[in-house]
Amino acid sequence: MSKEELSNDDKLVLAVKKRYRDMLAEGVDPYEWAYAWRSEINRGGFRAVDFLMDEIVDTGKCVGCAACVTICPTDVFDYKDEHPVDTRKDACVLCELCADVCPVLRPLDKDLHTLLGFKQPIIDEGFGPYNYAVIARAKNKEFLDKGQDGGVTSALLVHLLEQGTINGAVLGDVLPENPQIGVQKLATTSEEIVQCSGSRYTYSPNTVALTEAMRRDVHPLAVVGVPCQVDGVRQQQYSSIRLEVAKWYQKNVSLVIGLFCSESFTHEHITFIAKELDVDPEDIVRVNVKGKVIIELRDGREIIMKLKDFHPFARPACLYCLDYSAEHADIGVGGIGLDGWTFVAVRTEAGHKAFQAGVDADLFEIMEVDEVPKAKSLLIRLSDMKRNKPLPALMPTLQERIEMGNTNPKTFYKDYNPSNGGKNGK
Ligand SMILES: Cc1cc2nc3c(=O)[nH]c(=O)nc-3n(C[C@H](O)[C@H](O)[C@H](O)COP(=O)(O)OP(=O)(O)OC[C@H]3O[C@@H](n4cnc5c(N)ncnc54)[C@H](O)[C@@H]3O)c2cc1C
Ligand code: SF4
Ligand code: SF4
Repeated sequence: MSKEELSNDDKLVLAVKKRYRDMLAEGVDPYEWAYAWRSEINRGGFRAVDFLMDEIVDTGKCVGCAACVTICPTDVFDYKDEHPVDTRKDACVLCELCADVCPVLRPLDKDLHTLLGFKQPIIDEGFGPYNYAVIARAKNKEFLDKGQDGGVTSALLVHLLEQGTINGAVLGDVLPENPQIGVQKLATTSEEIVQCSGSRYTYSPNTVALTEAMRRDVHPLAVVGVPCQVDGVRQQQYSSIRLEVAKWYQKNVSLVIGLFCSESFTHEHITFIAKELDVDPEDIVRVNVKGKVIIELRDGREIIMKLKDFHPFARPACLYCLDYSAEHADIGVGGIGLDGWTFVAVRTEAGHKAFQAGVDADLFEIMEVDEVPKAKSLLIRLSDMKRNKPLPALMPTLQERIEMGNTNPKTFYKDYNPSNGGKNGK
């Protein structure tokens, strides 16, 4: 199509795209990148959904956090196969919120740290600001047995729900026929929270349930998610453009628990396990990664597989994520270097208030972090590995990585050699 044949909407999208690309090429401060699209608002707006789809989704850079889906005031997007789909783009009201909340398009605003209310004094040892950390596990055996690590996350949420501190939680549940494939869940009862316990290593679109929470006006609300989802929630709460929908998240999401995460796996890893062990996917009741992959089967068997056999199943989109330790959550949790315990990093005042309520109710057994020194040192090392990459806007697209022959998010920058067309230079 020639330039003359383009509609005015299309021309505006191209203009924003050019402005954005020029800023990247000129090495402009990344915090200014939002200027490329925000400046269009003063002139009446533009169809940001097209820009987002071109720049992030079609390039394979979308991490699937669903922030664009759940912020859109006119329901332009569906969410399918870990990505937004612009099903109703004619409904776009040119508000550009979808572009503004995307954590891949730009780094989170600098003032976020003030807005989040990190508890003072802040400690920063390389895994995000925090005030204190402990290693804990639930005293109640049900949470311990069903939880992925120490069951702290679910035990705390159930307590907060029963106390009336929250009225719902956005979590991940599973498909009945495949307990390792995650689906979003708005849990409003203790039973539903317990049902969601445990981790699935496939990408679970938890935050898609924010739309339901808003529609049903369920609040105060807790959200549990991996770091990309935490960032998507924070962008929605604190992006600088204020619409009613953003205000709802700001006012009503009262606690965000972030799960440490190096990457998630594609669905094929379940098919691989099922084939290797000659079982049905529905018989794989738990997968845990602890330097090796521990698989628990419905018949009670526990099978160990090598982590390196799972490298081909690392989700390519996870390359575009720089956060291991959920740095913007109120509480960060992980099972790092531990067996049956949860590492808990309390970051904000809201996180402290929630966790302290659990401690006061005697929910947990608690150890000092120094009792297992390798947990914190591993956390620092893995956080550093993930941070130490260019910003996603400056990384190659998925197509370019396929051409370079490396789509693995974990090894890409280890092997990357820009002077050799990006191919492994060793
Ligand atoms: C994809 C993924 C990768 C992870 N990688 C690491 C890691 O590298 N290092 C580390 O220390 N910890 C990692 N974790 C976190 C760890 O597995 C535990 O979730 C965490 O220690 C909390 O344990 P718990 O027993 O307190 O939680 P539980 O009480 O078992 O609660 C777990 C919560 O996680 C939610 N959930 C389950 N699956 C998903 C999912 N796929 N996406 C989002 N939410 C989900 C559930 O809804 C539930 O609320 C990862 C988790 C996931 C989901
Ligand atoms: S990364 Fe999140 S906000 Fe950005 S396009 Fe993907 S789902 Fe939407
Ligand atoms: S590595 Fe990042 S993008 Fe991938 S699932 Fe984890 S938090 Fe999300």
